[in-house]
Amino acid sequence: MASLFRPDGSANPAYLKLDLYCKGLRIDVSCDLGEDARDIIRNRAGLGSGLEVVIGQDMYTNVPVVEWWCQASPYVLVKQGARYEIWQDGDRGVGIASGGLQTLKKDPQFATRRGPFGANLDRSKARFVDAVKIPPEPAWYKQKTSSGKLMQRIGCLQGTYLGIYWGPRCQNWGPRGENEFCKFCTEGQNLGREEEAEKSIQDVIETVKAARAESGITFVHFNTGFIDSNDYWGLFKDVVAAVKKESGLLVGVQAPPDANFSNYVKFKKLGVNNISFCFEVMDEALFKEIGPGKARRAGLKRYLDAIDFCANEVGFDTVNGEIIAGLEPVESSKRAIDWICEHGAIPTVCVFRPVFGAAYARHDPPAVEEMLPVFAHFYERVMQHGLPIGIAPNVKVSLIMLPEECRELTENPNAYKLTRTKLWVMKKAFGAWFNATVKS
Ligand code: SF4
Repeated sequence: MASLFRPDGSANPAYLKLDLYCKGLRIDVSCDLGEDARDIIRNRAGLGSGLEVVIGQDMYTNVPVVEWWCQASPYVLVKQGARYEIWQDGDRGVGIASGGLQTLKKDPQFATRRGPFGANLDRSKARFVDAVKIPPEPAWYKQKTSSGKLMQRIGCLQGTYLGIYWGPRCQNWGPRGENEFCKFCTEGQNLGREEEAEKSIQDVIETVKAARAESGITFVHFNTGFIDSNDYWGLFKDVVAAVKKESGLLVGVQAPPDANFSNYVKFKKLGVNNISFCFEVMDEALFKEIGPGKARRAGLKRYLDAIDFCANEVGFDTVNGEIIAGLEPVESSKRAIDWICEHGAIPTVCVFRPVFGAAYARHDPPAVEEMLPVFAHFYERVMQHGLPIGIAPNVKVSLIMLPEECRELTENPNAYKLTRTKLWVMKKAFGAWFNATVKS
């Protein structure tokens, strides 16, 4: 099984990214994140609640820092001169997130504290893990659109792409579905507080153009929650058409299954490149338990049918089925990955993050030891099916482990040479086409 350090003593960035999702990070007194980092923006279902960090060359990650369980993390962010580093605190012990979390939970205040959690690291008792980069906040975050809205409340960078919530608050949060929201989700609390509830197409276009000009984004990803009509074509067609026309950028849409699958053909004609569906778990009983609104309004089968239809009948560049590892047994997550790959789609595998405000806020985060087999399986299956991963130029995602990032979690990272060569050629060709056709 993969471990944090390679035989030569250097850090395995894939393991570090995964373990940081599971354990979070504490912040040493030497850090100056107010000056150096992007704002923490708790948007979407709440997954973006962390600090954006770049591990290694370009492994973007959104590291949990505010959730109660981060105070048990052995990982500490330290600033040395201008350089940021991650260290492992010997006092906390390497495996504290599993056994140690239980010990710390005996403190009655433990699960009510909110970070970021400070540290004053004694480096003589700690181990250096890796140097990291803290991506600076882009100037456009604090720019306003012509209607006077802060651009970071229209959309924000999740790695290197622009994520935008579009549409009303997910109707699983009310007014008639108050008890039907998904138990890991905080979207109903974030919209209006962390991001604008009302956005115009003009707000979106201005934000996309600013993010393209300054941050070089190549991909705009829209997401939304449930609307009673399930008419997501009606919801998205005008804003997607405007973004395609005004920017030519790659566009993805993530929404519940549309009431009418033939609308996906229209999405494709409009130029949508990627479509994704979050069904979270493959276990039918857990699906109903975790997402009662999802179960009542769509049901697991409808999600799977939508993935199958989009991947096999429509011909988008890519189709994703999204799951959350840590919400169901490992074997069930593996079954979900198998199903998605066998149907020609690409799994998006998140790590369950118990975030403040969610019904599952007090749940323990998953142990990295349980996540490793899931993510190794993920990489193996994607490669075995020859799925088109890592092709889009400059799309680094901080909220999830990208499949290509999981290579070093497997027993034999050197396997699949031919497939990796084929993907490299596709990436170069697509990148050249993109640069020749999309205005910078
Ligand atoms: S469908 Fe579930 S996860 Fe998605 S926004 Fe609604 S409550 Fe949240």
